[in-house]
Amino acid sequence: MNAPASPPARPAILQQPLRMLVDGQWISARGGARMDVTDPSTGQTLASESLGGAHEIDLAVQAARRAFEGGAWPRLRPAERARLLRKLADLVERHADELALLETLNTGKPLGVARMFDVGFSIENLHYNAGWATKLHGETRAVSLPGDWQAYTLREPVGVVGLIVPWNVPLAMAVGKVAPALAAGCTVVLKPAELTPLTALRLGELVLEAGFPPGVVNIVTGLGHEAGQALAEHPGVDKIAFTGSTAVGKAIVAASAGNLKRVALELGGKSPVFIFADADLERAIEGAARGIFSNSGQVCAAGSRLFIHRSVADRVIAGLCERAGKLRVGSGLTPGVEIGPLISQRQRERVLGYIDSGREEGAQIVAGGAAVTGEGFFVQPTLLVNTRPDMRAVREEIFGPVLCIQTFDDDSLEQLAARGNDTEYGLSASIWTRDLRIAHQMVRRLQAGNVRVNAAAAPDFAMPFGGYKQSGWGRENGREGVEAYTELKSVAIDLN
Ligand code: NAD
Repeated sequence: MNAPASPPARPAILQQPLRMLVDGQWISARGGARMDVTDPSTGQTLASESLGGAHEIDLAVQAARRAFEGGAWPRLRPAERARLLRKLADLVERHADELALLETLNTGKPLGVARMFDVGFSIENLHYNAGWATKLHGETRAVSLPGDWQAYTLREPVGVVGLIVPWNVPLAMAVGKVAPALAAGCTVVLKPAELTPLTALRLGELVLEAGFPPGVVNIVTGLGHEAGQALAEHPGVDKIAFTGSTAVGKAIVAASAGNLKRVALELGGKSPVFIFADADLERAIEGAARGIFSNSGQVCAAGSRLFIHRSVADRVIAGLCERAGKLRVGSGLTPGVEIGPLISQRQRERVLGYIDSGREEGAQIVAGGAAVTGEGFFVQPTLLVNTRPDMRAVREEIFGPVLCIQTFDDDSLEQLAARGNDTEYGLSASIWTRDLRIAHQMVRRLQAGNVRVNAAAAPDFAMPFGGYKQSGWGRENGREGVEAYTELKSVAIDLN
């Protein structure tokens, strides 16, 4: 493991106890409850966050409601909303290095990845959705009612939206919901993951600097079963957009039932990757390795089940072993490091538990398979072969750098797709082949919201992203992603 380099200067937000943003003011939780925020590379405390609960959520929802109903926000022209979003994008860009450092300190991921992916994508997302603010519209409809009618649809903001996000890509997840919600004209209450509040709170400072009216963006930090649950239950919230585990997604659905608020869910995955015999194997090996080891495997769309044609299996597995062995694991602050730690000691134990269960159920470990000794919550990039579909490690989402490998031989494409679809999830899939016929037939058969051919899963804001089956409800990104923050009104005027 590589030792961390001497850390850059600590960002100012870490110099004092963290607070929450409600109605344009920074507040602490009424009861004074706090929790340490930890650097997973070292296990050391970075800051102390305020633990908001039902009271603070209620204050935030009321502020968002005032801003939505009577404040400046609904009176702003779409072009003004777009301008504010672009201003926020520019501010995020101006502070990109600081935000990347905060993300690396809080998640352990490599600084270059945090700068290029987490922060870079957040900037792009703000620009992308700023563009939508002026392009959302209804349309006229040709109705066949008797008489003379003018009929059309209107797109209106859904209202006050609660946004609940996970810890794996904290800033990009927060921006991925805040940006389309604001573009559509909603006001928001954001609940970051309790493990990773830093970049969301810094974003809150930039929101104020950009000049968003008070109450348009509120940020309440706190525990999932307290602040998160209170937000999902709150009768003053019109929609919840949630990214996280499938188990919590189901709890959100139950909590939202009181006022039948709209619910969007981006949940877990157990995504299949298929490497056919005719594939460009060098690219396929690199793509499969990146698809499971990026962000230490803490990626919802990670390609965690690999199916390799038997005729090329030895070559592909040898290539993956070589790649896994060469990956530089260490603190995200060390130049050249490719794999950081897992987010917490608990997550590391969970991942190691899955590796042990695979071993006990008869899988063979051909790379990694253990924790990295020393400080921090590191796990070696791990490859399991001889896995079977009934194994826990194959069925359940591990959310760590663990790839489960199976082979196929003379399976028909029907059978092979069925093996890929043999999961409760349906988020993503990758196919590596040069044969267009195979590619198209597999694309049609796979039950997944996102399919890539000759590429690992990679997001693009123009492409809808979301899951089939228990990987979620709805889509983010693209027109669908921003329209999800609107209601559709049908209007017909009798002209007689
Ligand atoms: P999690 O479900 O435990 O937590 C996610 C968020 O929900 C956190 O902010 C948490 O505080 C909150 N929460 C927890 N319990 C809650 C409750 N009862 N009511 C309301 N909110 C509650 O997930 P996690 O461990 O932070 O993240 C990992 C999971 O997220 C994985 O399953 C992963 O697949 C999924 N994920 C999905 C996507 C996607 O786009 N589909 C993206 C990233 C992560």
